[in-house]
Amino acid sequence: MSEAKQLSAPVPPGGTIGILGGGQLGRMLAMAAARLGLKAHIFSDEKEAPAFQVCAAQTYASYRNTEALKEFARACDAVTCEFENVPADTAAILSGLVPVNPNPPSLSTAQERFEEKTFVSNLGLNTAAFLPVNSAAEAGSAFKVLGGGRAVLKTRRLGYDGKGQAIVESADEAATAFENFNGAPLLLESFVDFAFEASVIAARGIDGAFAAYDPPENDHRAHILRRSTVPSRLTALQVEQAKEIARTIAEALDYVGVLCVELFVTAGGKLLVNEIAPRVHNSGHWTIDACAVSQFGQHIRAVAGWPLGSTERHSDAVMENIIGEEARDWQALVARGGSLHLYGKSEIRPGRKMGHITWLTP
Ligand code: AMP
Repeated sequence: MSEAKQLSAPVPPGGTIGILGGGQLGRMLAMAAARLGLKAHIFSDEKEAPAFQVCAAQTYASYRNTEALKEFARACDAVTCEFENVPADTAAILSGLVPVNPNPPSLSTAQERFEEKTFVSNLGLNTAAFLPVNSAAEAGSAFKVLGGGRAVLKTRRLGYDGKGQAIVESADEAATAFENFNGAPLLLESFVDFAFEASVIAARGIDGAFAAYDPPENDHRAHILRRSTVPSRLTALQVEQAKEIARTIAEALDYVGVLCVELFVTAGGKLLVNEIAPRVHNSGHWTIDACAVSQFGQHIRAVAGWPLGSTERHSDAVMENIIGEEARDWQALVARGGSLHLYGKSEIRPGRKMGHITWLTP
């Protein structure tokens, strides 16, 4: 494999940032790039990708199409992604031709939950207790090792928004639930009876500079993010601890770009890392309206090799997702006030993120 290309100089205005993925995150990244005088080239395997509506150039092709990837790489000065499940071969082909950030090892670490949790706990950070599970018998014995009570069985790959998860309350239930995953490699994790969930959105520049936004508190419904609120209930000390967790992870990965670390906050005040998202994140959408530099602008700055911008927040904010059928009555949404963002998705589906509204209190 050829060596990964590094950015030798910042991408100047007029240059092109390639973005793998064409969902709402790619769309908001493309708009942030345009604001900075950069062009966004979206690569998506979805014909109706929402980001295609707002970019300077586009490629509609499979992430496994080597020729299309090579042509894309030639057209871009730097490449990034809006989703972590970029196939390893895709990342390898691109990174031999054009600087790719976050770097491929960051993507692969975040793609596999067991690898990710092992990586996090090896850094001395707290997570829920977890064990790998490869058979029904192992699921039952892992349940006992974790001390009984309640546990969550999760797929090691491709889980998001609670997809690929089952809560189990006995060794027998764990073994039975294993069978429902059709032999996929799994992980069993202690159920955390958290007081609330929070996340840190942070950025690391090519020069190693680090900046974090005020961590939002996140409410989920049916495993899907419903609302993010800043400031959160975290104490000043916990805010600093949360930012340090993100810094530790970003430095260990030699990360460049925006990342999100999802946290469980226990009643005793402990912060447990649930997940790393090596990308901009839904819980950071409020930064568009409440900060001088949004998570999207910040990510574009980082991957273009520019200095990071200010993460300062000028307002308190509540961000609410518009999910599935809630998008049907767009006239009522428009009339609600707040700062409305609609993602240009042609089809409403249950659980699909269609847009969001941010409410500000200066
Ligand atoms: P994940 O896909 O791992 O981000 O999980 C989605 C959501 O499921 C989290 O945001 C939590 O609300 C819930 N969840 C996941 N793992 C656990 C756990 N070990 N204990 C309690 N709730 C969990």
